[in-house]
Amino acid sequence: MQEFEEQTLKVRIEESQCAACESKACIAACKTYARGMLVLKDGVYPMVAGEAKRLGTECLACEYECRLRGKGAISIDAPIPGLAEYRKKLGIA
Ligand code: SF4
Repeated sequence: MQEFEEQTLKVRIEESQCAACESKACIAACKTYARGMLVLKDGVYPMVAGEAKRLGTECLACEYECRLRGKGAISIDAPIPGLAEYRKKLGIA
């Protein structure tokens, strides 16, 4: 399991899923929609090249593409301060 943080997000990559992934879609997504900080290590799994906190754009594209074209190895926690209280206020908690 690989973990890294961006400004407000925490990204987890379950690398054991990546060997069976032919698309490596997370890499292309990161190049297309962000700054390309995800690079392919040993031709198998993604890793961060550089400082994730500084380079990360929090675009979520890697998670989306991994679910759509990869093996669902990426999960991103994106906490939204105040959301629980707001949902409770609206009665949808
Ligand atoms: S798209 Fe998902 S499963 Fe494929 S290499 Fe990237 S993180 Fe691994």
